[in-house]
Amino acid sequence: MRQDDFAIDNCLKCSVCNAACPVFGVNAQYPGPKQLGPELERLRLEGISADTEWLEYCLGCHRCDMACPHGVGVSEMIAHAKAKHHKPLVRGLRDWWFARPGLLGKLTTILPAISNFALSMKLARFFMSKVMRITPLRTFPAYTKPNLRTPPARTSEDRARLLFFPGCFIRYNRPDLGRKVIELLERNGFATEVAATECCGVPAAANGDAAQAHAMARANVKSLVAGVDAGMRVVTACSSCGYMLKTGFGGLLKDDRELAPAVQKIAASTLDVGELLIAQSDAGMLNTDFQQANMRLAYHAPCHQKSQGIGRPWFHLLRQIPGITIEDLDAGCCGMSGTYGFKQEKYKISVAIGQELFDSINASQPQMVATECATCQMQIEHGTDFKAIHPVEIMLQAYNGKII
Ligand code: SF4
Ligand code: SF4
Repeated sequence: MRQDDFAIDNCLKCSVCNAACPVFGVNAQYPGPKQLGPELERLRLEGISADTEWLEYCLGCHRCDMACPHGVGVSEMIAHAKAKHHKPLVRGLRDWWFARPGLLGKLTTILPAISNFALSMKLARFFMSKVMRITPLRTFPAYTKPNLRTPPARTSEDRARLLFFPGCFIRYNRPDLGRKVIELLERNGFATEVAATECCGVPAAANGDAAQAHAMARANVKSLVAGVDAGMRVVTACSSCGYMLKTGFGGLLKDDRELAPAVQKIAASTLDVGELLIAQSDAGMLNTDFQQANMRLAYHAPCHQKSQGIGRPWFHLLRQIPGITIEDLDAGCCGMSGTYGFKQEKYKISVAIGQELFDSINASQPQMVATECATCQMQIEHGTDFKAIHPVEIMLQAYNGKII
């Protein structure tokens, strides 16, 4: 890693990143991105040990990067240091599993009903909290058979072809949501193929497993590049997967001469489903054959959606459905950050970060919250009495005239 990769010399110690950091905002002991990033990085570059347990408390939300007026790669610096941080054995084992949702998904979906029963058993939750330090206060999402498939080709129609990167949550927990993505895209004139991909690597990077994140990036790039070379665009319905394909692979594989050109092509060809549909809308090509909905929604933008720099496509799409009123909550990070909120030692911080969002939802009193990140949905349903669903489901229901 070269010193200028993170633009460390651009840091003027202005502390704007600290003001944007959700963890810094709720925990006075957290050193903040300025210290964990550029300040300690200077020591690390000198070969001075600057390891600290606080590296583990970074959410990887990228808010510090977005806030920095000088383009310093703050969160990437922290992620690199986190990957070298020493963990006690049992916590290391827990994080090894958390870094591999694809492997976990493959194993649990051999017999999903038994896995779901085992994960909900009090004895198992007690063991997980005492030994693995996984909080018993969270509920695991149910696993289901990974039966998301490419629908049969409609040979009579000439449609633009897309490659769908489903990610682990859709593949192992919600393949029905994946089918809804495909149906929504079909209603807007696209033919969608399900890509044969692995986990995007965000959970591995978030859990400090750089080797696993790197392996996932390589496998996914090799799998996606043929489709992109054939002119297909890649679509994602998970904001973390989207961020990884657009930006994260570039960081992980920047020194990989073999794959670097493919990484760039994939990054340039990847779109969030909402981003694709808002472009259709701007071009006057969105299917607006919606039924009257009569619903009051609140919208929460996930951090990894914001860090893609694509605005709020789903907020603007859902507003086009007749009878829907929608409020952009603009209430910061939810605090869940994938597996972070499941970790016993981080649970209180996770919920404290989410409180601003919970208060905002309670003040808004919507019938439902729309947000495209599965773990944001989990956190919202954990911290409030409101249901949270993916905007894809709302839009598809509006075509079918059956809003929940
Ligand atoms: S990293 Fe950026 S925002 Fe943070 S102190 Fe340095 S210049 Fe300021
Ligand atoms: S990535 Fe998020 S949690 Fe981590 S230091 Fe930056 S702002 Fe704070």
